[in-house]
Amino acid sequence: MIKKILIANRGEIAVRILRACRDLDIQTVAVHSTADADAMYVRLADESVCIGPPQPRESYLNVPAVISAACITGADAIHPGFGFLSESATFAHMVEEHNLTFIGPKADHIAMMGDKIMARKTMAQLEIPVVPGSDRAATTLEKALLLAETIGYPLLIKAAGGGGGRGMKVAKSPADFPEAYEMARREASISFGNDRVYLEKYLERPRHIEFQIIADKYGNAIHLGERDCSLQRRHQKIWEEAPSTVISSAFRDEFGKKLASTIAKLGYVGVGTLEFLYENDQLFFIEMNTRIQVEHPITEMITGIDIIREQILVAGGKELSIGQEDISFKGHAIECRINAENPDTFIPSAGTVSNYHCPGGPGIRVDSALYDGCKIPPYYDSLIAKLIVHANDRSQCLARLRRALKEYVIDGVDTLIPLHMKLTDNKNIIDANFDIHFLETLCDNQL
Ligand code: ADP
Repeated sequence: MIKKILIANRGEIAVRILRACRDLDIQTVAVHSTADADAMYVRLADESVCIGPPQPRESYLNVPAVISAACITGADAIHPGFGFLSESATFAHMVEEHNLTFIGPKADHIAMMGDKIMARKTMAQLEIPVVPGSDRAATTLEKALLLAETIGYPLLIKAAGGGGGRGMKVAKSPADFPEAYEMARREASISFGNDRVYLEKYLERPRHIEFQIIADKYGNAIHLGERDCSLQRRHQKIWEEAPSTVISSAFRDEFGKKLASTIAKLGYVGVGTLEFLYENDQLFFIEMNTRIQVEHPITEMITGIDIIREQILVAGGKELSIGQEDISFKGHAIECRINAENPDTFIPSAGTVSNYHCPGGPGIRVDSALYDGCKIPPYYDSLIAKLIVHANDRSQCLARLRRALKEYVIDGVDTLIPLHMKLTDNKNIIDANFDIHFLETLCDNQL
């Protein structure tokens, strides 16, 4: 039985986890850097510990500091949120070594899926279709060129340890290949401390579709349907929807069940997201995220399930309280990521928030840690709030989204609100006619 959770994260996700803990009557410990001393999640937590200076490496990524904070406050579990230490198998292992519960899957599963070559191989062996590509690392340029010939151009060179859309380079033809290969390796080495890369067929007009799953340690696994996260900028999601307009309910049921049983076969415990690219009516696996995702609220809105609550319960050894037959999908939900960024250039914007006014009314949910006068430090990810809208169907959802965006006031820093406003009036968005390149092209053409 988990009684006290240390939240090894910051910002809106720390507040979101804290809320799930409150609903479960679980005590909370916040950890923070000196830059976040006045943050909302620190104020809301039952206890807080300063774990270091602003630089993530010295605070939120400082494993001894985080684990010591859990030990001195008597926490019995650590929730890593997303980003930071959430996908570190070493961290998960060390947490368990200190007799604390890691709220996430076993370290072995994090390591398996964190190595994207291994993840592809595992899924292919379990008969989940993967994007055509290499089943091993392309360790030298000569070997990589041979692999490239068998896969065909255009192709993508990707970092085995990749994440956050980094370490990915397109080669349109053999002439482009050597430079793209060297750049991908260099970027992978700098970003992930590991220069292993692999090759994938570059799909030209796919959608990004991902399935949410939850599994307990008794072999029960369920899926909560899919999310369409095709609207991206530099491979980073900006706007997500559930359900996807291109997935039929019969396909969702069949494919979702297949994924849930695959996850159960692996002995995976916790929440996870299987990411796919969708092209020509087919889904191809790209990777699995072994943690809660930024966009989980849209699934919560259409299923009525509190995913973080379930995540905490299964980590504490409870059996899943819901079966697949209990899950139904109601209406449509959209999440807009409100990043503190210039809406034209996407350059991050730090500062002090003023005149904060949060939208409300039917179907509106805002997950944020903002308040009037709060500081947006320059050291961290630029996501500051998520506007989540739910309605009976997609067109009502867009209408509510327009209303909410007009009400939303955040002064003092630049935000993506003006971009989202333009998107809600764009014909392709209204018609749900887009792929992963849509937003990039639109922004390049100045909307
Ligand atoms: P990361 O872990 O860095 O987020 P992913 O493998 O999840 O990397 O891919 C991120 C995004 O990059 C995808 O959502 C998609 O937009 C694009 N992408 C990835 N693989 C391919 C591919 N084979 N063809 C075309 N686009 C791709």
